[in-house]
Amino acid sequence: MSFCPNCGKKIEGDVSFCPSCGFSLKGEQKNSSPSSSPGKSKIKSGSGSNTKTYMIISVAGLGALALLSLMIGDSLGFIIAAALCAVLYFLGMKKFEEGEQDSAKKIFLIVAILTGVVGLAILLMGNFIGAIDILIAIPVFMAWNEMEKG
Ligand SMILES: [Zn+2]
Repeated sequence: MSFCPNCGKKIEGDVSFCPSCGFSLKGEQKNSSPSSSPGKSKIKSGSGSNTKTYMIISVAGLGALALLSLMIGDSLGFIIAAALCAVLYFLGMKKFEEGEQDSAKKIFLIVAILTGVVGLAILLMGNFIGAIDILIAIPVFMAWNEMEKG
């Protein structure tokens, strides 16, 4: 049992209009909870652990590339990959763990660019190893990006 909001007369049954004054009752019905967006709290993903993951992938990737170069007898490739791997590990990852974010960030950016550029050059020379180089540059760059964000 309800009453017309316009004229106040009793309304019986489920009707769209008030039988007394013709007031539209459907329009007067309460809007069922206007989809209140509960302001999704952005879950801050642990940027530290993300950074670490990318760093480990980067170092492992360069290490694997150094090994691969050694196996196929590419001494220059081995030296470059091993050097970049060492720089990334000792100057990048270690610095990061010691809390020297800025130094680590620079190292990772430099290595990302170097790895990418060297990879592209090697690829243009017709060596497939270059493609691997470029692939490895991605997690190195991602590690830098994570540090840049956080
Ligand atoms: Zn009415």
